[in-house]
Amino acid sequence: MLWKHIKDRPHYNCDIYRQCDMGCLYCYADCLPFSCKKRWSATYEEIERVFHEKKGDMFHFGVMSDPFQEREYAQKLALHVLRQSNKHKVKLLIGTKAIMPEEHMRELDPDLHSFQFSFIGADDRFIRSFELGTPLFNERKIQMERLKSQGFDITLRLQPIIYIGKSLQALKELDGLYGKIKVEHLKLYKKNIKQFSFLDNIKYYTFNDNKYLLVEELRRDNIKKILAESRVDIKLHGSDRCLSYMVGRH
Ligand code: SF4
Repeated sequence: MLWKHIKDRPHYNCDIYRQCDMGCLYCYADCLPFSCKKRWSATYEEIERVFHEKKGDMFHFGVMSDPFQEREYAQKLALHVLRQSNKHKVKLLIGTKAIMPEEHMRELDPDLHSFQFSFIGADDRFIRSFELGTPLFNERKIQMERLKSQGFDITLRLQPIIYIGKSLQALKELDGLYGKIKVEHLKLYKKNIKQFSFLDNIKYYTFNDNKYLLVEELRRDNIKKILAESRVDIKLHGSDRCLSYMVGRH
């Protein structure tokens, strides 16, 4: 099990799988040196030990891989995490794009579990250009509606990539389902760049350290558009953190 405390944050980051079956071309987890392209899963014993040690704490669960990816159907490690979280009263902020099996849904508790759903847009063709194996827009939306109706807190992780209009569409269509927004412009990795044949906008990207990132001026414009459209609290993440002054945080 991968877990570590993040400086200045109240929680531990936690993953049970290394590498992810969802196949997002922008995925930074696959590009980090420690991933080594090697698939790996936690064990039941590790999960039990960590949750026993961290009784009453809080974990961000699903940071570098989706906990409910294909492997979960066979290995059921995320199910074990949910059960250990209930047993030891460990709060989980669950980061996912997946649809949870019913067996997992039955373990959820709104007092312990909250969710963060990520979207690059609401247009399925656009989503499939970057995400090869994620549930599509409506599938994720239905899951959010179900969780919201059961009293779970949901954060929308909005991840603009190339076209801000695609992200604004998701923001609008999911309105009312989330209580907070996290914004993070995604980077494009050099190794994947050939896949984006429609990338005429690449001229607006700066290249650094094998990654392309939208220039700051355009990211600022995009954030202004998101602020104009949103009715809830916004937090900026990743490379956008340096623009936090725009949402009243330093
Ligand atoms: S779902 Fe998340 S962890 Fe999995 S491939 Fe996509 S970006 Fe990476």
